[in-house]
Amino acid sequence: MNTLIHSGLVLLLDGDGWRYERRDILIHEKRIAKIGIIPPSDDVTLIDAENMLVIPGLINTHTHAYMTIFRNFADDMSFFDWLDRMLQVEEGMTEEDIYWTTLLAVSEMIRTGTTCFVDMTIKSAQEKTGPRSAVAGAVRDSGIRAVISRGLAGVSDSDESIMKYGQAVREMEMFGDESRIQFIHGPHAPYSCKADYLRKLTRSSADRGIGQTIHLSESQDEMEKAAVKFGTTPIQYVNSLGVFDVPVIAAHCVYANDEDIRIMAEKQVSVALCPRSNMKLGNGFAPAEAFLNAGINVCLGTDGCGSNNALNMFQEMGAASLVYKGASRKPQCVGAGEVLKMATVNGARAIGREKELGVIREGALADLVLVRLNEPQFQPMNSIISGLVYSSTGREVDTVLVDGKILLDHGRLTTIDENQVYEACRGITERLNMEQVSRIPEHTPATHPES
Ligand SMILES: [Zn+2]
Repeated sequence: MNTLIHSGLVLLLDGDGWRYERRDILIHEKRIAKIGIIPPSDDVTLIDAENMLVIPGLINTHTHAYMTIFRNFADDMSFFDWLDRMLQVEEGMTEEDIYWTTLLAVSEMIRTGTTCFVDMTIKSAQEKTGPRSAVAGAVRDSGIRAVISRGLAGVSDSDESIMKYGQAVREMEMFGDESRIQFIHGPHAPYSCKADYLRKLTRSSADRGIGQTIHLSESQDEMEKAAVKFGTTPIQYVNSLGVFDVPVIAAHCVYANDEDIRIMAEKQVSVALCPRSNMKLGNGFAPAEAFLNAGINVCLGTDGCGSNNALNMFQEMGAASLVYKGASRKPQCVGAGEVLKMATVNGARAIGREKELGVIREGALADLVLVRLNEPQFQPMNSIISGLVYSSTGREVDTVLVDGKILLDHGRLTTIDENQVYEACRGITERLNMEQVSRIPEHTPATHPES
């Protein structure tokens, strides 16, 4: 069956610059077959895109989807109080809980124009992954696209590390045939993985021909500990272990010095900026302009709901467009067009799919978002690019397609029963006593592992 998106303003990338033209888009199966003037026929599903902007689906390159359970749960407190509360709750989560809380994340992402996300599930459940469990199950059932990793932490020969690694591999094997799911390894961070574990995971990534994603240089505290423990920065430390010898998405990189930036450019590391999470946790502002000037592929992520209460890439684009100007005191740095690339084509490049995702062109996968232009945020239409980045909220998203399939149809989710998801998540918060945990006074002794 073919689908025709009729008479929308289509956002196209010409070399380095964005432009938009009124066009029709014919979708055959999963891909964009033709862009041009295409008369409707009886054998197509017609989507009327009059007064709509058609943009490539947004790509969230760093999140922990299951952490929606922590939305609005442990706000405005010190890092270790925050972490203590999260760990207490997370302990009791099952693989099925992760399935439901991920579906909640996916509902929000689809509604706000995200068609692909790079995920790291930090929680390791004891039970085996079943078909209706975990992030992969939720991705398969919802129709969204994802690049999935298990956040692996520990020592390479400890029982827990072996269990987590085994679970990651089992999940890859169980869901390996799903065309919308890509797997990578997720070594959690240099402070939570021993050197030989990082080497082992990198070897495994190389053997499997996959990339990896890792948290790097996120906080001042991490930098101080790395200086004592490794005698260098986290970025230079993991580079010395060969971590960058496979494709890497490095999340945060708030504290990157000139040498760190030089290395990441040379090793073609993609940096996933998470400006709202960095601000919420009081971690500061990444040197975004220096990354761009060095030619680093810079993309955007929301991080999980534990440190950013929303998974809305429009909010993230808005934050990115403002915060790096404010931090550098340069209004001309990190422009709207640049931010839009971070959320689309750069995200696609980070996952090795820039030929078929993050852009609207013939032959690309039909991951498309229709945005209503008849909204005050876009009027008058002086610049649609500025509208997308500086003034839209995400609620202008009308229709979303992934692989040519409609997942949001004029504001209605087609694959997810939201009431069922809310109900399931309410049940989880009750079972895990989250209300009680949230009443624990602050400054209790920290039970967190070494960080
Ligand atoms: Zn993270």
